[in-house]
Amino acid sequence: MGPLRAAAARGLRRGGGGGRGAAPAAREGTKGSAARGGRPAPPAALHLFGDPAEVEALRGSLLAWYDECKRDLPWRVLAVTEPDVNRRAYAVWVSEIMLQQTQVATVIDYYNRWMQKWPTLQALAEASLEEVNELWAGLGYYSRGKRLQEAARKVVSELAGQMPRTAEDLQKLLPGVGRYTAGAIASISYGQATGVVDGNVIRVLCRLRCIGADSSSPPVIDRLWAMANALVDRSRPGDFNQALMELGATVCTPKAPLCGECPVKQHCRARLRVEKELALASRKLLGKLPVVPDVEDCSVGGCPLCPPAAEPWDSSLGVTNFPRKAAKKQPRVEQTATCVLERRGRRGALEYLIVQRPSSGLLAGLWEFPSVPLAPGLQQEQQREVLVDHLQAWAGQPVAAGSLRFIGEVVHVFSHIHQTYVVYSLSLDGDVTLDLASSPSRWVTEEEFRASAVSTAMKKVLRACERQRGEESGPATGSKRKRGAKPGAAGSTRPGTQLSLRTFLRAPNPP
Ligand code: SF4
Ligand SMILES: [Zn+2]
Repeated sequence: MGPLRAAAARGLRRGGGGGRGAAPAAREGTKGSAARGGRPAPPAALHLFGDPAEVEALRGSLLAWYDECKRDLPWRVLAVTEPDVNRRAYAVWVSEIMLQQTQVATVIDYYNRWMQKWPTLQALAEASLEEVNELWAGLGYYSRGKRLQEAARKVVSELAGQMPRTAEDLQKLLPGVGRYTAGAIASISYGQATGVVDGNVIRVLCRLRCIGADSSSPPVIDRLWAMANALVDRSRPGDFNQALMELGATVCTPKAPLCGECPVKQHCRARLRVEKELALASRKLLGKLPVVPDVEDCSVGGCPLCPPAAEPWDSSLGVTNFPRKAAKKQPRVEQTATCVLERRGRRGALEYLIVQRPSSGLLAGLWEFPSVPLAPGLQQEQQREVLVDHLQAWAGQPVAAGSLRFIGEVVHVFSHIHQTYVVYSLSLDGDVTLDLASSPSRWVTEEEFRASAVSTAMKKVLRACERQRGEESGPATGSKRKRGAKPGAAGSTRPGTQLSLRTFLRAPNPP
């Protein structure tokens, strides 16, 4: 078995996640790791920064590169220009929460809108969860916004509006603030000399010091935190931490690192190993005896930081041998039946019914089209019946299954769920008053729908409906115009094509 296949068989994969927040467990899941008992054996020299002069040189090179090459990002500007320490910490905090699991390019617009709307902790504390969800819509991982607001309320109501002033207190006192976020806020806003470890830092450090053991395992994570804390520049900790993350995001990338342009390449042992191998290979090619020794591991049998013996260095991968981490658990496969209920509103505009999800759990408090989870293995007709039953439950009256129009399937992958929405639509006419005892609901225009706190998945569902409507209306004109004009299209006002409420809600015992 080749190394890669063997890696797959062992559940390890090479390389790190691409995004800044690619390793949330590593960043935030280590709250209790320091509390484990037992002092681990000191790592082998290969994995250490044992020379203070080298550490100084690395800090200098990295900071000089950062000063020259860093991206201009709004939260970086605020972190430098905002004189009020609480506002500064808040500005960094918001950016760090948004950047978890999300690309910088996506975050910028959300960040600017957020800071414009809620420039202070106090302003955020006074906002409603609905407003927070609306602004967060499309950013994903919606509990982040909710927890951010809960924590802001706590600072205002219990801490007199004062942000905790150290990484330790930030982590201890603020819900949703883990070790990484606390370190980032404290180093960037307060200048506390504390390190940070996120997905990018993991990748860079593992390569700098040839760490090939599972980078999501607690001993390796502990080692990386110790390394980050030791390396962080004492006079510019915030810049140093951002520089390390910036390096991982732009130069030391997961699949195609730009080692030739790397400001710390002279300190990188993964690169050194690659160079040694190349030198060895070229001497062999020329028929010369090697003058460099064979590339060694760290000479410590069973080293907890080296790649496992069954998974040695693979020359074809170069520096991307590092890092490695256990393969992610496959996401759970789920199916949900969803019904896009449409009607013509008072001014003739098409409207959709949306209902609010429960205030806890996945997509808490967000709005969606009426939906119901499906048991695995149901045939399409059975799925339709389940949806009909669900619609009846809140409509309070029987629904004709044949009235539902099958639109198609929409797949959306959440962090841990592979969700397939089986989408139907149903057009109603006139004034429809449905008895929605269990969930809050409202009718919204398309514009209102897009401005509402709805998930990206629901936007995809609506797009699927609109696409089908457009296809049915023909290729020559835009779907929006056709909605009201083309006979036969869903939502049309032509008699006979739009379902009446009487058709939708059949009498239980027809006379
Ligand atoms: S030399 Fe290459 S592998 Fe090493 S830190 Fe720089 S970019 Fe990463
Ligand atoms: Zn080792």
